Amino acid sequence: MRRIAVVSGKGGAGKTMVSAALADSNANIQVLADCDVEASNLGFLIPGELTSREPFMSLDIAEVDPAICTGCGICADHCVFDALVKSSDMHVLPMRCEGCGLCEHVCPQEAITMVKRPSGEIFRSRTDIGMMAHGRLNPGSGTSGLLVNEVKKRALLLDPAADTLLIDGPPGIGCALISTVSGVDAVIAVTEPSVSAIHDLKRLLTVCRRFDMRFMLVINRYDLEEGLSGRIEEYAQEQGVPVIARIPFDAAVVDAVRRGLPVTKIDCEAAKPFSRLWEVIDTELSR
Ligand code: SF4
Ligand code: SF4
Repeated sequence: MRRIAVVSGKGGAGKTMVSAALADSNANIQVLADCDVEASNLGFLIPGELTSREPFMSLDIAEVDPAICTGCGICADHCVFDALVKSSDMHVLPMRCEGCGLCEHVCPQEAITMVKRPSGEIFRSRTDIGMMAHGRLNPGSGTSGLLVNEVKKRALLLDPAADTLLIDGPPGIGCALISTVSGVDAVIAVTEPSVSAIHDLKRLLTVCRRFDMRFMLVINRYDLEEGLSGRIEEYAQEQGVPVIARIPFDAAVVDAVRRGLPVTKIDCEAAKPFSRLWEVIDTELSR
């Protein structure tokens, strides 16, 4: 199975547009994973029928049994995160608890237990172009990497006939990105001609170089600032990174997004680079 992740060093570069267009133009059997778990939106462009949902349980959190707790305060004295507070009884502040388990260890009454914390949800959907797994992280949960890993695992089990895993990754270079790109065959980075995008692209490549994978580049809206696009091309050449598509600025992209469609569903200039893009990707993968 070829495992491809579409990522970008920054939000707003057109990553999900590229993911949806690649998914729509893939002639092979595929499974899709939306790993942008803090702002999942691949499903807006590739709508599907929800087939299952399950809670995502991540890190542990302390839980105090008020029937056993004597209110001695030993646990609060030991918690360096100030996550235990006493009002009418001792209770845990979920946003502060790091799940270290020290309070459970020191409580003389054994009134504290560590329990799994619900941190989001994992969904599976059936779309016209393949099964999709996607996740939604609860705000402030801070475990995006773990959820991304679970979404990828679910996606791989969705269709035994699939020969492509296509991932719409998160923006940025945090732990969700690391989790997204680990184990993939290729990363397709979507960038655009702006000074900040070039900076983010360099950081992204630095992170991805730590993994054994192919790195390819798509320049979105390349004709808006041809000078900056030229700088991206030069940088890519220096780094040995192939530029596999140059997508022109096209108002039809906005129209497609507004209508909830991959851009490849519309006869427009921005869709043309996708017509043979899988061939280009396969050629790069076979090098
Ligand atoms: S150490 Fe145990 S008994 Fe004492 S306040 Fe904490 S939970 Fe309650
Ligand atoms: S598990 Fe650790 S962080 Fe959470 S309340 Fe207990 S001591 Fe504090």
